[in-house]
Amino acid sequence: MVEVKSIEELSQIKLFDLIREVFDKAYANGDLVYKEPTNIEHFKDPESQLQYEISILEGLDKRPNNRAREPGEEEDVTKEVIEKVQTKDPFATPEPELTVIDSLLDDYRLILNKYPNTKYHFLLVTKDFEKQDSLLKPIELQIIRTILENLNGSGDGVKYFSFFNSGSESGYSQFHKHVQFLKLPEHFMPFQDNIISGVNYFLPKEIVQERRPLFAKKARFKHYILKLKEYNEGEVDREEELDSLAMLYMYLIKRSLNINKEFEIDKRDFSYNLMMMNDWMMIVPRRSAKYEDIWQNSLGFMGLFFLKDEDLKGKVQQVGISKILEECGFPMEEDEHQIVYNEYGY
Ligand code: AMP
Repeated sequence: MVEVKSIEELSQIKLFDLIREVFDKAYANGDLVYKEPTNIEHFKDPESQLQYEISILEGLDKRPNNRAREPGEEEDVTKEVIEKVQTKDPFATPEPELTVIDSLLDDYRLILNKYPNTKYHFLLVTKDFEKQDSLLKPIELQIIRTILENLNGSGDGVKYFSFFNSGSESGYSQFHKHVQFLKLPEHFMPFQDNIISGVNYFLPKEIVQERRPLFAKKARFKHYILKLKEYNEGEVDREEELDSLAMLYMYLIKRSLNINKEFEIDKRDFSYNLMMMNDWMMIVPRRSAKYEDIWQNSLGFMGLFFLKDEDLKGKVQQVGISKILEECGFPMEEDEHQIVYNEYGY
């Protein structure tokens, strides 16, 4: 049984080795539902100039759905609904063959994704049931960051990003709180890296233009990126890191709530995708889980399109990636860089 008791310990363990070991064994024993993505194609979207990777992933339609509310529904998520969801909760008692860390800071686990998008795809889950629609806690943000620093700084050349799909229009499939970690394809440069390159850490503030979050100007979907505070090796101020991550996250949440208000989205819940790498976090507020039958979670907004078959791929190409992302998120506005959202409310 693997147990990790502190952030410090999490930063030190040989995490990628552990993940690889558990994955390779589970894969060899048939405990995972996985076939490598095929027909991988790269291209630059002519409109947004963003880089995309499209591939076919056969296992996608085998993934179970266990949502408290389907997209578009506005019924209350009652106690009864939650109890029903909990009867089919795959993260309540994770399979030992898929478990990477049995106990992480007492309240969490790391487990492999049983239906991975690519090799070594894993999840951070709460031990006890918590709603996916609850906000990330500061300690959860710090765990995510520490995992990313550990994996991406290991010298193995691996680059992971993490993502959290929250709210019934976020494209999620499971209601028990979970954050995902996926290895970036080789030679894939996330557009966020370009945006934050050369930028120093700053605390966001609406009324100061240079202190508003960053974004890719040509993208058609609203998204906001903040640079994370970096430290020299061995000099991380853990308390400051915790506070800073929490502040940046809450700022992005508040901005997204204001966007819901601006667009008069009258749903009972609030949906967004949060993505993180070691040096940035990004939020994409969401108004729809899918465009026609093309579902989106965080991955499309990272530039990664995993599609279940060639038919769907044809459709995505016909509609156009920019259009799909704009409809699932909120349209970027002409004067986006001049918009000042409410600093202290929503
Ligand atoms: P989301 O669709 O964002 O809610 O992510 C839920 C993830 O959980 C999906 O990527 C599924 O592949 C994964 N999943 C579903 N069932 C299991 C399971 N029994 N063990 C591990 N991962 C699972």
